[in-house]
Amino acid sequence: MDGSIAPSGGGCHGGRERMVDAARAAGKSETLERLMHDYPRGPHDQPQSMCPAFGSLRVGLRMRRVATILSGSACCVYGLTFTSHFYGAKRTVGYVPFNSETLVKGQLFEDIRNAVYETAKPENYDAVVVINLCVPTASGVPLDLLPKQIEGVRIIGIDVPGFGVPTHAEAKDVLAGAMLKYARTEAEAGPVARPRSLQDLPTVSLIGELFPGDPPGIGALLAPMGMAVAPQLPAREWRDLYAALDCTVAAAVHPFYTATVREFRAAGRPVVGSGPVGVDGTAAWLEAVGAAAGIATDKIEAAKNKALPAIRAALDAHPIDARITVSGYEGSELLVARALMEAGADVPYVGTACPRTEWSDADRIWLEERGTFVQFRASLDQDVAAMLDVRPDLAIGTTPLVQKGKEHGIPALYFTNMVSARPLFGAAGAGALAGIVAAQIKGAPRFARMVSFFDQVGAGSATGYGWQGKPVEPKGSRERMRKQREAKAKALEAVGT
Ligand code: SF4
Repeated sequence: MDGSIAPSGGGCHGGRERMVDAARAAGKSETLERLMHDYPRGPHDQPQSMCPAFGSLRVGLRMRRVATILSGSACCVYGLTFTSHFYGAKRTVGYVPFNSETLVKGQLFEDIRNAVYETAKPENYDAVVVINLCVPTASGVPLDLLPKQIEGVRIIGIDVPGFGVPTHAEAKDVLAGAMLKYARTEAEAGPVARPRSLQDLPTVSLIGELFPGDPPGIGALLAPMGMAVAPQLPAREWRDLYAALDCTVAAAVHPFYTATVREFRAAGRPVVGSGPVGVDGTAAWLEAVGAAAGIATDKIEAAKNKALPAIRAALDAHPIDARITVSGYEGSELLVARALMEAGADVPYVGTACPRTEWSDADRIWLEERGTFVQFRASLDQDVAAMLDVRPDLAIGTTPLVQKGKEHGIPALYFTNMVSARPLFGAAGAGALAGIVAAQIKGAPRFARMVSFFDQVGAGSATGYGWQGKPVEPKGSRERMRKQREAKAKALEAVGT
């Protein structure tokens, strides 16, 4: 991070308030107010997930004919491009570098503008997205002054600072919402390009990144009501945005898309929460969608009568007899917990890094009525404490939680791999989780053997390679280090006085 403009020690490793102050002083107050409103913090400050901007970057990179350009410190951009390609982006990530001088003199904005003009060729792109990371946001680089379009190519500039957007999940909404707003304004102004997959039936727009098999499965659930699914959001192509906006009902399946929902509401579309998960969830969701779309009761009942017995049968055929804790930062944690519980699992704790919203209320209430403790904006500490307290047969969670679980001999599974690699909804979702849960739990004795075999070797401060025996802490080393730290802190204080 360039220390001369942005406060030193800022970004994702501390100094959030100073970064916020700097951004306000640089004219970004309105942006910050909007981010704080859409993505409220607390009860703790900052969930521990990857750089939030990854969410926006991913949404841009997954769209056809859309170029994505990052403006930020080289180290942040390195991490973000690495992660993108790790997840198979296979697309170029644009980058406008800067130094202290170009940042101070406003040249960075000019460089971004030039990059946008160079990139925005209508034969290549429908839209160019520019993402301000922490330092350019804190320094007030005014992306809103970029042209709105160049030769018909839409230009979308967004601020996605780690000190304003708590999770990468919510950062997906920042870009999805900005694109939907642009598309809505276009549709309101006059005729727009015809979407490829325009349906004659009333449609439901699904909000959230889902397993590829889930939208067709949900389409089958809706068919008896005479409804179909619209292209889902985040979209894969610009004109899909028009088809999504043209829906009869928007479904906030992932409940943290606040900006996206705002656009659907501005377009006059009703929005329903939760999702068709398990028997109870599917029944309630079909009723909510049918009511919002004005579908006759007999058709809603027909849809339920067709779907629910198949889901019940799938659940009965794949029972889960295990105690499981669920935590993650994808936003679908409550839905996954419901699916597990309907299959018979005991889920005493669900932690999600995402905030509580009205669209997850039905799931929260369903879980709490069955004795599950639901923690929104959960920190890693809370997730780990819950796991160690409950000692589940299986802990589903983030990478550090999984690591902690294995250290304690608790079988653990990475949430993202679990949800992104299998269906969650309808009958397909009902049977999908049981197999992987059973396979993981079967490994429990192996974990216990591993813990006793290593017996604290390589744990904590003794972690590392090359030991011949159990590492012994040098006598007095902790005390010496403590004194050194205190002396250093005192010396720093003295500089400030
Ligand atoms: S852009 Fe991301 S990685 Fe860089 S300082 Fe901000 S939160 Fe951290």
